[in-house]
Amino acid sequence: MSHRVSIAQVSAGDTEAAVREAINLAGGFESLIGSGTRVLIKPNQCKPCPRHSGFVTDGAVVEAVTRVVLERNPASVIIGDGAIAGWDFEGFSTQEAFDASGVTEAARRLDVELRNLNADAVEEVRVPGGTVFDTICIAKTALESDVIISVPVLKMGIRTHVSLSLKNMKGVMPGGEKRKSHRVGLDMAIADLCTAVKPHYAIIDATTGSEGMGDYPQDAREMGLIVAGRDPLSVDIVGSSLMGVNPHEVLHLRNIAARDNRVAALDDIDIVGERLQDHRQTFTRPFDVFRSRYPEVTMIQGESACSGCMNELISAIIYMKRAGYGDSMRGLAVVLGNATEPASSRRIVAIGTCAAGFPGATVSLPGCPPKEADILRGIASVCNIEAEAVINAMESTRRQIWDAANDLMSR
Ligand code: SF4
Repeated sequence: MSHRVSIAQVSAGDTEAAVREAINLAGGFESLIGSGTRVLIKPNQCKPCPRHSGFVTDGAVVEAVTRVVLERNPASVIIGDGAIAGWDFEGFSTQEAFDASGVTEAARRLDVELRNLNADAVEEVRVPGGTVFDTICIAKTALESDVIISVPVLKMGIRTHVSLSLKNMKGVMPGGEKRKSHRVGLDMAIADLCTAVKPHYAIIDATTGSEGMGDYPQDAREMGLIVAGRDPLSVDIVGSSLMGVNPHEVLHLRNIAARDNRVAALDDIDIVGERLQDHRQTFTRPFDVFRSRYPEVTMIQGESACSGCMNELISAIIYMKRAGYGDSMRGLAVVLGNATEPASSRRIVAIGTCAAGFPGATVSLPGCPPKEADILRGIASVCNIEAEAVINAMESTRRQIWDAANDLMSR
């Protein structure tokens, strides 16, 4: 069975026309939304970012999608998201994110409810066949919606390679669950999440995307496109390909595809509208930017290296450097995937099951992927670093954010 995904180009600055064209080409909402349907439109509003930053969904795209939905006369329409941490604090709140991206203004113009999912009631639901979650807590608004339209922005993700419509669903989890998803392995957590609460339609805001670490303005990339489709996995496969990322390298896409007896590839996708090859770019990978900022660590990658191990590793190294141990890591080599090329370092840490057979590894860390804290401990053991001090510093940073958020919410 082939899945249809449309690509429409924004002409003369008319975003709404491109959104309409993309939805029409992808098959429209007719069979999905009727008079009794409760619709949740879920943009990516992970943190307060200006319009055209390429890091959050632009208000003009959210407005256009909402207009098309309203034309179906559904029972209700809510635009909802919760900022990245899963709770709100000053300078990093969902409302500030809505305001900065133009979503507040769009909702006001259309008289549609804007809902902060970080403040929503939650319900624990079972994850059928879950890998890292048996049950998961989800915002009730998402569970009570008949149709969820995921409207992400086209961007790279430091922990998951790409951040598109399936990763965007993380916004329906409360803070504690978001933290847990990072601990147990983010890609697999996203796959479990999307098994429990799968979006019914995906529309990517590819008007402006972002590469690298998503820093604004240097990492913003003009694309002038809208990508849409009924099958979010297929839409994300096309979105990844537009950024020059092989979707098979993205662990959560690969895993979600496998759950459906598919592969994360373009083969069974029917692309309509603009031709993908006319718009494909090569976005700088967060990992490459990371490597230029952390030159003390040598990375050895085999073909099977994927975002699962890579992103847990990146997070661990960031915390070690933040804790003042950058110099201690000088000369460290880390191995990801099924690499075989020999390493000259005397301190080699093999990360994950794929790298288990690496010759000469000082430490080998099992897991697919291993947990961030285990990676941190493994690296600390070969670099004479006090691991618990880094873990304490990491947890204390997270606790401070949590306390500040609770304090603000209780006022
Ligand atoms: S062990 Fe291999 S497949 Fe598993 S997360 Fe690591 S690199 Fe990916």
